[in-house]
Amino acid sequence: AKDLGRNGFQFYSADMNNRMRERLYLEQSLRNAISRHELSLWYQPKLDLSSNTIRSTEALIRWHHPQLGVISPADFIPIAEDTGLILPIGAWIIEDATRQISEWRDKEDQNIRVAINISAHQFGHQRLSEQIIQALESLQLPPRLLTLEVTETALMTHMEAAVRQLQALRDIGVCVALDDFGTGYSSLTYLKHFPIDVLKIDRSFVADIAHDTESGAIVRTIITLAHSLNMTVVAEGVETQAQLAFLKENGCDEIQGYLFCKPLPAGDFLEFLRHHR
Ligand code: C2E
Ligand code: CA
Ligand code: CA
Ligand code: CA
Repeated sequence: AKDLGRNGFQFYSADMNNRMRERLYLEQSLRNAISRHELSLWYQPKLDLSSNTIRSTEALIRWHHPQLGVISPADFIPIAEDTGLILPIGAWIIEDATRQISEWRDKEDQNIRVAINISAHQFGHQRLSEQIIQALESLQLPPRLLTLEVTETALMTHMEAAVRQLQALRDIGVCVALDDFGTGYSSLTYLKHFPIDVLKIDRSFVADIAHDTESGAIVRTIITLAHSLNMTVVAEGVETQAQLAFLKENGCDEIQGYLFCKPLPAGDFLEFLRHHR
């Protein structure tokens, strides 16, 4: 039994060691990812259901690792958050997304609204709102072209700082969307106090709406709730015609998902937009 225990420990420890080495390696290369131009924003269109047009898009970060290929944000954003690297990366996202909005305006004569994802940690950083205001001013962009997607959990983590900064941004016209709505811990009371313009229904609810009556009821309720609070509703992760039909029928404002379009590099996104019109 003693031997087994020791072998078990050794096995476990070697495994841990590998994982730690892998993580350390990722962390090291993430430190240089910005200066080596390995990060990029991809764009997933949102379809406006009432007009059948694309006026907005969500920017999703991609990391092109020279050895490992494309690394998903689900794998590196947590590392960026743990190490504090999310601050320079978050600043880069703001800079690159606003640069892109500006480029589409100047070169294509298109006012495309871009939503960026904001991490909880960025709210702990006092300059977030200043950073955003400065980026918008230096490019002379209408603030309404920028949306911030924040999760309930992010809002709760630094509640006072988050509400204060979002309020300041919203005062100048920046849009605020509550991401992954329904999956966090926040109670409905907070909806009244948080400065929010858009609810994004989480993919987990959308997945089952066509067959599962509970998910259908939840989604219908979220849409009604949002509209009665003067908010608009976006459904994410729409993959089937049946889901789209359900959302249309129940008054959802915008949809996003593989059924319509996957996230695309900026150039391909523009191409997609041209063909859709
Ligand atoms: P999220 O904000 O909920 O983004 C939606 C995710 O769902 C994206 O994954 C998107 O590619 C994926 N998706 C879109 N349509 C469909 C669909 O029809 N079916 C399925 N199964 N998935 C769909 P992605 O790009 O891998 O991003 C994962 C998460 O990483 C995001 O979830 C967000 O939390 C985070 N993230 C992505 N980009 C950024 C960023 O720039 N900053 C920060 N802080 N977080 C980011
Ligand atoms: Ca999002
Ligand atoms: Ca989401
Ligand atoms: Ca989600």
